[in-house]
Amino acid sequence: FWAASAFEVRLLHTNDHHAHLEPVEMGENETLGGISKRKTLIDRLREESDRANQPLLLLDAGDVFQGTLYFNTYQGQADGKFYNALNYDAMTLGNHEFDQGQEVLRNFIEESKFSIVSANLDIESSSPLSGWVKPWIILKKKGQNIGILGLTTPETMTMAEVGEGVEFLDPVQAAQQAVNELTQEGVNKIIALTHLGITEDLELARQVDGIDVIIGGHSHTRVGDMPEAVYPYPIVEKTPNGQPVLVVTDWEWGKYLGDLNVRFDRQGHLQNWEGNLHPVSDEISANPQFQAILKTFSQPIQKLKSKVIGETPIKLNGDRPYIRREQTNLGTLLGEALLVKTARNQTEIAITNGGGIRGSIAAGEITIGDILEAFPFPNTVIEVDLTGKQIKELLEYGVSQVDKLDGCFPQVAGMRLDWQADLPVGSRMLRVDTRQGDGSYLPLDLERNYRVVTSSFLFKGGDGYTLLSEGKNVVDTGYLISDTLIEYIRDRDSDGSHYRAAEG
Ligand code: ATP
Ligand code: ZN
Repeated sequence: FWAASAFEVRLLHTNDHHAHLEPVEMGENETLGGISKRKTLIDRLREESDRANQPLLLLDAGDVFQGTLYFNTYQGQADGKFYNALNYDAMTLGNHEFDQGQEVLRNFIEESKFSIVSANLDIESSSPLSGWVKPWIILKKKGQNIGILGLTTPETMTMAEVGEGVEFLDPVQAAQQAVNELTQEGVNKIIALTHLGITEDLELARQVDGIDVIIGGHSHTRVGDMPEAVYPYPIVEKTPNGQPVLVVTDWEWGKYLGDLNVRFDRQGHLQNWEGNLHPVSDEISANPQFQAILKTFSQPIQKLKSKVIGETPIKLNGDRPYIRREQTNLGTLLGEALLVKTARNQTEIAITNGGGIRGSIAAGEITIGDILEAFPFPNTVIEVDLTGKQIKELLEYGVSQVDKLDGCFPQVAGMRLDWQADLPVGSRMLRVDTRQGDGSYLPLDLERNYRVVTSSFLFKGGDGYTLLSEGKNVVDTGYLISDTLIEYIRDRDSDGSHYRAAEG
């Protein structure tokens, strides 16, 4: 009798999909992920649960947006179409959902058949998102209510261009309030769908009573039996009053599907659980209907991708361990392109963030697709006057977190930097020289003004570059960074000499 009144639910979950509709190459002859294989797998698990008369929820912990040309081309609409067809029940918002502004996000939400939840967003009525995001929802399964609350990282404020009318509240406080509201509705089984990162998820688990399961994203954390996993699946934590709470996450890009079975007693307390991670491997066949739809989306992308704009005799390096730790030829190429584009205003120095460069360009022909993949963010080119002193300070900041491979590492042009990572933070920059009109270099003059070119992301304080907004005579040129680079490559001769120059 007691067992019969307990309630069991199966939670399938993904996070940080990042527009990865196609399988991801994992090494020779091996792929993981792909939306058509995800479909086959989910269908199989749904059938299994149907047969066992077990309720099932399909949930996503955010960052569906940004990462491949499917996003650049369709602004989330392609991913949304597949998520609808997969019958997702709910999703929380990740930081990247704000990458193209609130209108694009609203369009995505308008089309989605599933609920979008985030409890720590404060949305004003003037925002296009007003009325489209719920703090929490209640899903009814087999006569039982399950509360689902969402949380989005406040880092979104510096990671994306959020725009007016949306503020981020403290996630722990917002979660507590959502739990209180759900409890008042008589809900005693609560899932938090979060895009905060694993450290914050564990903290949340320890600080808020009433949450039973936290399904997280954002930190791209490997768990369970994934290679190089750092946490078990699930992680078992305790709430302040000693109740167990399960914390799970699912790495990234739909490579795996999280599958957590939980059983609640009559009071809505967790009784037992069992977790599995299913690799979306090559052994799973691709669903043919999904493949057919994917093909219609991929054709224009293939065409765009294949448009050749130039050639490089050497690899242009944007790989994360390099672009976030040292000046690379691709970083230099970008900086030079920005300087050329703004030359009529006598710009002298370019500074961008290494984290804004998301990949390398292989030797050989360069296509538009290559550029858009490496430079996916819709940032514009900004000009601003800074003093030598401010520039020095910016550069010191830029190299302050190099051991963490933080995205703030500066890729520059028009300057030569001599710095050392093993010196104390704040005094690593031994020497800064700036390029003169005749190509020679002189030490940075701390007293004088320099015309600097940078990205809108950094100018708005992204990656912690808050100092940039103190600059004078600001001009937002409106040019896209990616377009500026495409133009630069297209306009140069294709003998590759400028790439070799960039290498030095
Ligand atoms: P997640 O995808 O889970 O949010 P992420 O993959 O974006 O995380 P990282 O790969 O560490 O996390 O990238 C974060 C870095 O990406 C930031 O530090 C910044 O350098 C860069 N970045 C993010 N958004 C932008 C943007 N709009 N413009 C330029 N750079 C950006
Ligand atoms: Zn994220």
